[in-house]
Amino acid sequence: MKLDRILPYARQLLERAVTKGDVVVDATVGNGHDTLYLSQLVGEHGRVYGFDIQKEAIEETATKLEEHQLRNRVMLFQEGHEMVEEAIPPVHHGAIAGAVFNLGYLPGGDETIVTRPRTTITAVKKLLEMLKPGGIIVLVIYHGHPEGAVERDYLLRFVQTIDGETAHVLRYQFMNTQTPSPFVIAIEKRESRS
Ligand code: SAM
Repeated sequence: MKLDRILPYARQLLERAVTKGDVVVDATVGNGHDTLYLSQLVGEHGRVYGFDIQKEAIEETATKLEEHQLRNRVMLFQEGHEMVEEAIPPVHHGAIAGAVFNLGYLPGGDETIVTRPRTTITAVKKLLEMLKPGGIIVLVIYHGHPEGAVERDYLLRFVQTIDGETAHVLRYQFMNTQTPSPFVIAIEKRESRS
């Protein structure tokens, strides 16, 4: 297949926006796959801020990073991503090159603990302010579970209200799958004349 699958596509978008030495955010660290990937993408002089409300997610991610000797590039917060502005030092406000949200529940964990539209949208709004021009927010939306379908609807309504002068907003989704395909929403903060 020549079309990118959803997760490789999400990573490709991040790779276009992020270079070595950049500051990035993993808004839902979970088992740490994206955190590890981001820590490699930003290189030794970069910085990753990771958020998850579950202790087991933070611990699992910390272990993964230690195994790869990348723990020192990453600051992990056992806090909701809606706290990004408070948690990330002011020196990095306006300097964030990329942020990723992998929504839903922790794979292999408690399926009743899920991301919620109010806090997700709060975090996206704050991160859009904190991005540098040309920076990108990538959301992967899983809507096969009931709360996911609700979150999808709120998010779709919200992203369509983002001022086109502020950011480009894109949706990438396979349309003819038998079960609801996860999809990507990408929000790219505009440079002054892009
Ligand atoms: N990217 C992860 C990985 O590589 O394994 C998967 C993330 S998982 C689909 C979603 C995660 O979001 C769960 O671990 C859950 O605890 C977390 N979560 C739920 N609400 C949150 C919030 N308000 N802030 C940060 N994380 C949250």
